[in-house]
Amino acid sequence: MGKNFLGICLFGTVFSIRPLNTIELNHELIHAAQQKELLYIPFFIWYGIEWLVLFFKYRNWMLAYYHIRFEQEAYSHQCDLHYLKNRKHYKYK
Ligand SMILES: [Zn+2]
Repeated sequence: MGKNFLGICLFGTVFSIRPLNTIELNHELIHAAQQKELLYIPFFIWYGIEWLVLFFKYRNWMLAYYHIRFEQEAYSHQCDLHYLKNRKHYKYK
């Protein structure tokens, strides 16, 4: 999910309120790969629980969001357009 919630990736499809640039799209596609690995529904449960735990830790929802492992992977590799081709499974662990 993107910083300003421009886009969201659900079940392998990216929805956005405006056309995404290449990097934003890559970010969402990294989430698509993560969701597929976790069979979609568990991804959202894990994502939600991790966000809550981090929220209690940082007391700041934006900081919590950036520390979610799925976001960390997506943000660290969104500029690498070849990343998904070489990505190892379960890279966020
Ligand atoms: Zn994201």
